[in-house]
Amino acid sequence: MRKIAIVEDENSIAEMVQLNLSIEGYETTLFEHGGKAKMKLGELIAHDLILLDVMLPEVDGIELCRLIRAKSDVPIIMLSAKGSTGERIEGLRAGANDYVPKPFDLEELLLRIKNLLPEVQSSHQETMKIGDVEVNFATFEFFNKVTNEKGSFSKREIELLELFKEKKDFVVSRDEILDRLWGKEHFPTARTIDNYILAFRKTFEKDPRNPVHFHSIRGVGYRFKLE
Ligand code: CA
Repeated sequence: MRKIAIVEDENSIAEMVQLNLSIEGYETTLFEHGGKAKMKLGELIAHDLILLDVMLPEVDGIELCRLIRAKSDVPIIMLSAKGSTGERIEGLRAGANDYVPKPFDLEELLLRIKNLLPEVQSSHQETMKIGDVEVNFATFEFFNKVTNEKGSFSKREIELLELFKEKKDFVVSRDEILDRLWGKEHFPTARTIDNYILAFRKTFEKDPRNPVHFHSIRGVGYRFKLE
C-alpha cells in the first residue's frame, strides 16, 4: 500500500484529505505541525509522497521542504492558501514537485498525487543494457544474451547500479557511494565498495581485467561508461 504523509495543522483539511486518501486505497500519516515533522524527518521521508502545507507553526513548509530535499527525492506536493506566483515559485525552488493552492479541488489533488506516484515506480521498472547484459531494475535480475548467463542482484547492488546510471560518464566518489547506499550511520570500508565493483566487472565486462564499463579512478572513486 502506498503511504502518504500529510503535514497540515488545520484539522478539518487534514481529516478530509486523510479520509479521501484512505478511500482511494492509500495509507496516511498525519504530522500536525512543522516541528513534529522536522523532529521525525526520517519517518517523514520514508513515505511514498508528502503533502506539505506551507503555513505551519514552528517550522514552515518551505523550510521543511528544503530539509527533506537535503535527504530525499520523495515526491512533494505543496498545499498553500497563499497561491500567488511568488509563493509557488518559492515552493518549487525549495524542491517541491507540484504546488496546489488552497482551497483545492479534491479530485484535482488526487490526480496530481497519481501523476507523481507512477514516477516512483517507473524509475525502478526500467531496464539497462551494459555490454551484452541486460539489467532489470524491477526484478533485480540480469541476463547475458551472449553467454545466456542469468542471475540476480542484491538490493544494494541495484542501488549502486542506479547511482552509476544516473552519474554515467562522471566520476563518482567513494564518499558519495557510501552516503547514498549506507547512510551516515554505517561505515563500511572502501574495500567493501571495491568488492562490489569486482563483482560487477565479472558480470558485465568481457575482460574483467580491462574494464570498459566500470573504471577505477585512483584515490577518488569510479566512473561508469556504457561504451
Ligand atoms: Ca496551515
